[in-house]
Amino acid sequence: MTSVRQGDRALASGKVHNRINLSGTVLVLPLLYFYTSLSEPEILAFGGGAVFGSCFLSPDLDLKQSNSQRAWGGFRWLWYGYHRMFAHRKLSHMIVLGTLSRLLWLGLMAFLSLFSINLLYWLFQQPDLRGILQAQVVTGELIREGTFWLHSNQPLAAGFFCGLIFSDTLHLISDLLFSLARKWSLIR
Ligand SMILES: [Zn+2]
Repeated sequence: MTSVRQGDRALASGKVHNRINLSGTVLVLPLLYFYTSLSEPEILAFGGGAVFGSCFLSPDLDLKQSNSQRAWGGFRWLWYGYHRMFAHRKLSHMIVLGTLSRLLWLGLMAFLSLFSINLLYWLFQQPDLRGILQAQVVTGELIREGTFWLHSNQPLAAGFFCGLIFSDTLHLISDLLFSLARKWSLIR
């Protein structure tokens, strides 16, 4: 496998991580369907979270170059500060905390982007202090709507979050196994 790198590079390549994670997701979904009382939408939300976590929100966003970074395409600048701020295999590679750190970062970036877009729009409409206040009001309204949606769809949000945790757990286990395999010189 084309996987082991040194220093601040990924232990396993993004492709290997994706293959492991997507296979794990495909295997676990029928188990959830047949052996738990979760509803179909909740299982789908779990699957969505696992796929999104594997492709877009992986712990390797703490690297300058990774599959997840590339997956954001024109929006990869959203993660520029994240990999500058957090060293590879530190916070982002901690179970649950790493997932939360990336979700919070994404929320912060979404807030700043929304506010900037609204601000530009309102300043263009009325270039004075009222523009800034309007931008604040509209951004606040959008955040309220989002929070309300999350509140009224808690089981789906929880399913999605568990899917993210599941994909991160698979990633961390894979990193650990690759790390041991390198230590024992099973791979270079
Ligand atoms: Zn990793």
